[in-house]
Amino acid sequence: MNVPLLDLKAQYATLRDEMMPAIEEVMEAQWFIGGPNVTALEEAIADYSGCAKGIGVSSGTDALLISLMTLGVGEGDEVITTPFTFFATAGSIWRTGAKPVFADIEPDTYNIDPAKIEAAVTENTKAIIPVHLYGQMADMDPIMEIAARHNLHVIEDAAQSIGSVYKGRKAGSIGTTGCFSFFPSKNLGCNGDGGMVVANDAELAEKIAIYRNHGSQPKYFHKWVGGNFRLDALQAAALLVKLKHLDKWSDGRRANGAQYNELFADCDQVVTPTIRDENVTIFNQYVIRIPKRDECRAFLNESGIGCEVYYPLSLHQQECFAPLGYTEGDFPVSEQAAKEVIALPIYSELTDEQIQYVAGKVKEFVAGQEIS
Ligand SMILES: *Cc1c(COP(=O)(O)O)cnc(C)c1O
Repeated sequence: MNVPLLDLKAQYATLRDEMMPAIEEVMEAQWFIGGPNVTALEEAIADYSGCAKGIGVSSGTDALLISLMTLGVGEGDEVITTPFTFFATAGSIWRTGAKPVFADIEPDTYNIDPAKIEAAVTENTKAIIPVHLYGQMADMDPIMEIAARHNLHVIEDAAQSIGSVYKGRKAGSIGTTGCFSFFPSKNLGCNGDGGMVVANDAELAEKIAIYRNHGSQPKYFHKWVGGNFRLDALQAAALLVKLKHLDKWSDGRRANGAQYNELFADCDQVVTPTIRDENVTIFNQYVIRIPKRDECRAFLNESGIGCEVYYPLSLHQQECFAPLGYTEGDFPVSEQAAKEVIALPIYSELTDEQIQYVAGKVKEFVAGQEIS
């Protein structure tokens, strides 16, 4: 049997009849930058996330970068984040000239540990970027409380968590800004690159919209140096089609997650995801911990199963961040997770047989380890 990590063709097969007319409409209009599709998507995503405003941007990375730039983060500033995330989170901080400062994660949710944040705050700290990893939101209440005490901005990296919920509040709606990615492998993916910033402060949202277009306001007059961070109309049109299906797909992922959990219930060596009671995950990834992870990965690949390690090296150990002066052992929880985690296929079009096959192969691997 073949089970890819993600099967976008299976998703597209259910969407073709809706998608093609939407794309054709943009082609007929020949209005590719901004326009009614982008505006409609901004309103729809803001509404979906429980935020006042949405600003369509070119990627999730640019959503983070433009948030930092607009908030005036730069040279001499520090931004606290997790070392266990996709590179873009810390890369964006670095690119502003500010210094990424890491705080270790919780061992069960893999999200930044609020108890580790305060010790990382200095007089140069300007912001905290919690990442809602794998589809589950970080513990936002204590994070917001620390931020309020030290007068810091909070930028939610919600690239993996559009639609996820923490204590009744949607991802992106709690911090100063929330950042979404529409990279094809995210729960809401477009036909290329795309992203969105959401915010509740209308004045800040207006400023982000100006930064998105080289800080131009009015046209050809520049008070600030922004960039070309625009979302194009073809992507917006595609996303408006897909957004209608997002909750159904996330429901499907949760049902698949529940099925895996049940299948692994009798297998002590497999640590299944911890989803806190106050959270609703969207399972962008279903990540287990397992001993001999790399051997397990090879075995699953040989069995026709797609799997991936998010992420094999913590950010404080990346070569490009050597100037930050971190060393191995600085964030042991993150380092341990990097050695043990593996993501299994979770997309909503998976069949029961495929899920049983994947879980069966993982258990076969574990059983083989016990014998040898
Ligand atoms: C995908 C992702 C990003 C970057 O999004 P792009 O659209 O690929 O630029 C940032 N942070 C996290 C946690 C992500 O998973």
